[in-house]
Amino acid sequence: MRKRLEAVYFVPRDEDPRIGRLSGIIWALTRCQTFFQREGGILLDWRLLPPVFGKWTRKEYEDLELLFTEISENIGEPEIVGVFFEGFLHGGAFGNEGWFVIAEPYLHHLERRRFDAVVAHEIGHALGLPDRSDLSIMGLGPALGGLRRKAIFPRHRAHLSREDREALRRRW
Ligand SMILES: [Zn+2]
Repeated sequence: MRKRLEAVYFVPRDEDPRIGRLSGIIWALTRCQTFFQREGGILLDWRLLPPVFGKWTRKEYEDLELLFTEISENIGEPEIVGVFFEGFLHGGAFGNEGWFVIAEPYLHHLERRRFDAVVAHEIGHALGLPDRSDLSIMGLGPALGGLRRKAIFPRHRAHLSREDREALRRRW
């Protein structure tokens, strides 16, 4: 099943844009596409839109409705909206049905190998998967390393739990 994901790098009025972030975002989304195709049979048809420069300050976007209203003015309504937010926002990474946000403190780890696993975790939430307490990507997996980490034990490789793989195949 194909899912349309539109990603955007969003810069509040009081933060400086760092255009170098875009290459890290593209890298992570490419890895996530391979991961979800393998683990869930989902083709993430993603694209990274031009950066959006927000009208308000970082603090004001703690009201997520304000953030998403402004984003939808710019990009319409794709199946999944992924926001890479310049500046600290709530816990830093969170998502739910149809959307996710990744902000500081994760963005400055773009070049680190586990960043792609954090993005995969949030895409999982956007696809309707819950948090888990196992070693899968929806559990502690992102703490173990990136999506293509080498692992001695199969359960330490980047994966989705059987329940989540089945849920994705059933649902989509
Ligand atoms: Zn989570």
